[in-house]
Amino acid sequence: MSDSKKRYYRKNVELFLLVEKIKLWPSRNGVLHGVKAIEIKGQYATITTHCGEVFQVCNSRNSRAARWLRNKWVDKPCSKCKIPQWKLDKYSKTIFASHYGSDLRHK
Ligand SMILES: [Zn+2]
Repeated sequence: MSDSKKRYYRKNVELFLLVEKIKLWPSRNGVLHGVKAIEIKGQYATITTHCGEVFQVCNSRNSRAARWLRNKWVDKPCSKCKIPQWKLDKYSKTIFASHYGSDLRHK
């Protein structure tokens, strides 16, 4: 795996921006869902998964979801969401670093 294939994000990247970008969401029981849509309204966002779940989340870098995404504490991808393998590969090559990478704000 070459370095150019890896993607770096800052550890303190904003949760919603990150989810909008990678289109993945970790549920409480360790399942990784594919995000069909995310609608951001101020500090909250409504997330729709490919398997049909809809829920509201609060924007926090320190939230459970943010930590789980950064640390990749997910057991398995959702079977109903059918997340394509390339997307999972991309995520597995995504690295969250303290002092390096994009915070997705400045483009
Ligand atoms: Zn799902």
